[in-house]
Amino acid sequence: MSDKKSLGFDTLQIHAGAAPDPATGARQTPIYQTTAFVFKDAEHAARLFNLQEVGYIYSRLTNPTVSVLAERVATLEGGVGAVCCSSGHAAQIMALFPLMGPGCNVVASTRLYGGTVTQLSQSIKRFGWSAKFVDFDDLDAVAAAIDDNTRAVFCESIANPGGYITDLSAVAKVADKAGLPLIVDNTSATPYLCNPIKHGATLVVHSTTKYLTGNGTVTGGVVVDAGTFDWSASGKFPSLSEPEPAYHGLNFHEALGGMAFTFHSIAIGLRDLGMTMNPQGAFYTLLGIETLSLRMQKHVANAVEVANWLEKDPRVTKVTYAGLPSSPYHGRVSKICPRGAGALFTFGVKGGYDACVKLVDSLDLFSHVANLGDTRSLVIHSASTTHRQLSDEQRAAAGAYPDTVRLSIGIEDAKDLIADLDQALAKATA
Ligand SMILES: *Cc1c(COP(=O)(O)O)cnc(C)c1O
Repeated sequence: MSDKKSLGFDTLQIHAGAAPDPATGARQTPIYQTTAFVFKDAEHAARLFNLQEVGYIYSRLTNPTVSVLAERVATLEGGVGAVCCSSGHAAQIMALFPLMGPGCNVVASTRLYGGTVTQLSQSIKRFGWSAKFVDFDDLDAVAAAIDDNTRAVFCESIANPGGYITDLSAVAKVADKAGLPLIVDNTSATPYLCNPIKHGATLVVHSTTKYLTGNGTVTGGVVVDAGTFDWSASGKFPSLSEPEPAYHGLNFHEALGGMAFTFHSIAIGLRDLGMTMNPQGAFYTLLGIETLSLRMQKHVANAVEVANWLEKDPRVTKVTYAGLPSSPYHGRVSKICPRGAGALFTFGVKGGYDACVKLVDSLDLFSHVANLGDTRSLVIHSASTTHRQLSDEQRAAAGAYPDTVRLSIGIEDAKDLIADLDQALAKATA
């Protein structure tokens, strides 16, 4: 893949990172189901361990199937490198790991996936890290939350579940001014709808469990590095910019330049945290990505049609989809995600909590699951499930109200989805 810059998204989603297998000529990327790789000789082994030569050692670190996926996602996101992980949540920890230390904090948006709010507000405290949550529409508040111990700014491009779009360029400016990397979770948008790096993001994280794989088969995550951040400028990122004792004193930024974060994440992050993606999982995700653009077009077209229908229905109290002109975030679609506002949104049902529960139980085609980004349409009552561990204020900030149901619109026929919602609304509001 010599001249990647001239190739379009649809070509890259099939070809980036992949070549016919050098050993067999296999056209599809093989599943290299092996733990270890034979060294040519002792000198070769030493060069690999010294990062003087790139190659395969042990599949906790790198694996050829997983490497194809890393390069494919890095290419689609416009980054220089990527590291695949065992889940989206693993990717978030892996993104923060090289940047943070005890006493450090991350400034995060209040509008995040429920599990991420819990991870950042509770579990990372065990590492001595912390998070400060602010409304990312209030740029002054974001700037004010940043202190000497802040090491990153974290948000989602399209935030799940509240139909919210972050003004990434504006937030990137704030992070940039403070000399901090912006980490963007691009799971709900995918690189087809949004490229956070173009808006100034340093790192992009994904739960590949969702649209990238696309059919609800495997759990995975990835961190993509833009390769543009100067890790040495502020002295705040010593693990990247100073001799790292955990890797025989290597200065990653000096030795590896724009690939410092990616190599650090593999050589130290995967080596010591072990949140590795397995080759089978990577293979399924590669298959999924081949059709990403086609699926996203249909996901978005269906979401627009269903959201429009719901908005006109008198049994429905509100629809929060940024693809609707009525959304306060509609104006950001053309700037942040010009191909569409994704396929996740919430709506309110007349009758509140009880009607929502009845609706969820009455749907046939929509599956009641804690997942999103499947070919199948999915429904969940966020307040009682994915956002259950949160406080009332955290739930309200995320848009997970008790009288609100979240839909992840699949790629079925829109008319069938509407018919299913119609009959369930009838039962829920009877
Ligand atoms: C699902 C999800 C995650 C977590 O990913 P897992 O693969 O389930 O660990 C993080 N962020 C967003 C936006 C998600 O939808």
